[in-house]
Amino acid sequence: QAAPVITIDGPSGAGKGTISAMLAEKLGWHFLDSGAIYRVLAVASLHHQIDATDEMGLIPLASSLDVSFETQSDGVTRIILEGEDVTDSIRTEEVGAVASQVASLPRVREALLRRQRAFRDEPGLVADGRDMGTVVFPGAQAKIFLTASAEERAMRRFNQLKDKGLDVSIERLLTDIQARDERDTNRSVAPLMPAEDALVLDSTHMSISQVLEAVMQYVQEQL
Ligand code: C5P
Repeated sequence: QAAPVITIDGPSGAGKGTISAMLAEKLGWHFLDSGAIYRVLAVASLHHQIDATDEMGLIPLASSLDVSFETQSDGVTRIILEGEDVTDSIRTEEVGAVASQVASLPRVREALLRRQRAFRDEPGLVADGRDMGTVVFPGAQAKIFLTASAEERAMRRFNQLKDKGLDVSIERLLTDIQARDERDTNRSVAPLMPAEDALVLDSTHMSISQVLEAVMQYVQEQL
């Protein structure tokens, strides 16, 4: 019997990252940030000057990606790519855009499957992404699809960046989010969509603690 899995899928900015990390912490389970893997691959492709549309060139890079996730004593996970700490540099909008391009290539996704499934371990795994419940862990014990309006997600992102002292335009963020949604939803493999058996939760008018409460209640019913 494999370890239990809870999947949390949804578009960028819906609060998946925050909720998944809090849930994993609460349960004392492992955590998979699958978007980080696509982001790391994006950075690796830039390093190795492989074009984001070059599927044949990206497959070997994806299969042999030299990345490690090192959780420190303070609970922060550092992401190391080819010996370099990329924890912060993978979070830019530019890297996100390249990540979403490489993520649209079927054989690249396939090359990353095993790596993602390896995160499943006792006592359990909380997996955050776009296709965790549909493709990577279809047999998951509890599946959640967390969404919010594009305007609300742009606003949240804007506030996050502002807190970091970065100056960005909210219109630009909204356009970027809509472009990324469009690409993630309309790609032929593993498109962004709720699993048939997922709980769909719209967080547009919910606080983080309200979402966490709803998720916890649902998870307890499912496990
Ligand atoms: O979640 P995050 O914004 O970090 O993901 C970056 C990109 O990686 C997404 O826009 C999406 O295209 C891709 N992704 C994916 N499947 C996942 C996680 C992320 O295609 N499971």
